[in-house]
Amino acid sequence: MTTVDLLVVGGGINGVAIALDAAARGLRVWLVEQQTIGSGTSSKTSKLAHGGLRYLEQLQFKVVRESLRERDTLLDQYPQFVKPMPFVVPVYGRHPWPAWKLGLGLTVYDFLAKKHRLPGHERLTPMYVSHRFAGLNAKGLTAGFRYFDAQMDDLGLLKFLAKRAESLGVMISEYCYFEGPVFEQGRVVGGRLSTRDGSFDFKAKMVVQAMGPWSPGVKPSKGVHLVLPAMPFSEALLLAAPQDGRVFFVIPWEGKTLVGTTETAYSGLPELVRVEPEDVAYLMQAFHHYFPTYFPGESSIFASFAGVRPLVDPGVGGLGSASRDFQLDRSVPGMLRVFGGKYTTHRVVAEQVVNEVVRQLSREGAWL
Ligand SMILES: Cc1cc2nc3c(=O)[nH]c(=O)nc-3n(C[C@H](O)[C@H](O)[C@H](O)COP(=O)(O)OP(=O)(O)OC[C@H]3O[C@@H](n4cnc5c(N)ncnc54)[C@H](O)[C@@H]3O)c2cc1C
Repeated sequence: MTTVDLLVVGGGINGVAIALDAAARGLRVWLVEQQTIGSGTSSKTSKLAHGGLRYLEQLQFKVVRESLRERDTLLDQYPQFVKPMPFVVPVYGRHPWPAWKLGLGLTVYDFLAKKHRLPGHERLTPMYVSHRFAGLNAKGLTAGFRYFDAQMDDLGLLKFLAKRAESLGVMISEYCYFEGPVFEQGRVVGGRLSTRDGSFDFKAKMVVQAMGPWSPGVKPSKGVHLVLPAMPFSEALLLAAPQDGRVFFVIPWEGKTLVGTTETAYSGLPELVRVEPEDVAYLMQAFHHYFPTYFPGESSIFASFAGVRPLVDPGVGGLGSASRDFQLDRSVPGMLRVFGGKYTTHRVVAEQVVNEVVRQLSREGAWL
């Protein structure tokens, strides 16, 4: 029977990055994906390679620092897919973030970025903000800030990395479902796979599950985006939804405007996640609070999409406080399960997972 060193389950950004990293270190890798590459959460993102300014409020400094470092690396390595994007944050009196708090947060953000790949933040006058964003609700506008992050083509980059992995010998099979691990003497020695031709067992020295929100043990949270017509701005906006103070973005994207996201608990199957009327109503209400004269009604919505975040369950706290860090479960011999994290930090996830694969194979004398 054919054997590979590593069977990777899941063709999202994490699975693809793990397969690529492992192949680059000389492992023979097979990646299986139940649908098509990138069809899961990794193509439903806000398209941002970012540190995540709002995670600073939750004191997730490690995640923000790591994400900023990765953002800069992605900007350097994949300029065709990841580009700098200016963000403006209008400040309205004290709600929800007073200017001093935002200024402090952005100073920390700049500091954590260290490498200074992108310009630091600057404070803007209310007049300047109103001038830059014609039609923006100016009632109570007292200041503004500009800072930089990056916008990415999530699916484009993922497919590019998958091609690169294939060029290093990774076999990628779509429409191939992993039913579960196969055990011998208490250790995982492969997986049971099924395709439209039936089920079969396949041997692998190690199995890595990178199944995103399909992984057992994640805290799924649904996020929706709307695609609206183009607005006459080249900068993105970070805003607070008036309903609950949550952050949402209005971002120029592919000649249109991307508005999102929502964040609500989700208990259904990830493949069945849908945009519901209440998601649309929430985002349009938030959008119209800031741009009352743009796109009245819902007829101007070009498209919408929903994804499920595979968050690490913090045990307590709301969804917004669930960690964007990732977790690596090593509890089953011969198998690793990885979940959580952000698209931006996929290289870190891959590196740590493959380090662990190599460690375990070396310990068992099965390394190359
Ligand atoms: C609304 C939203 C906005 C986001 N915005 C950003 C952002 O702007 N920037 C950022 O950095 N991060 C963002 N994220 C987070 C980011 O999208 C995820 O952390 C990341 O995409 C997770 O990748 P993954 O590979 O773990 O999961 P996925 O992309 O979901 O991949 C898992 C894959 O496993 C496959 N699979 C599952 N079970 C099986 C099985 N049994 N057999 C075979 N295949 C299987 C699935 O079909 C799927 O393709 C956002 C997430 C959401 C939901």
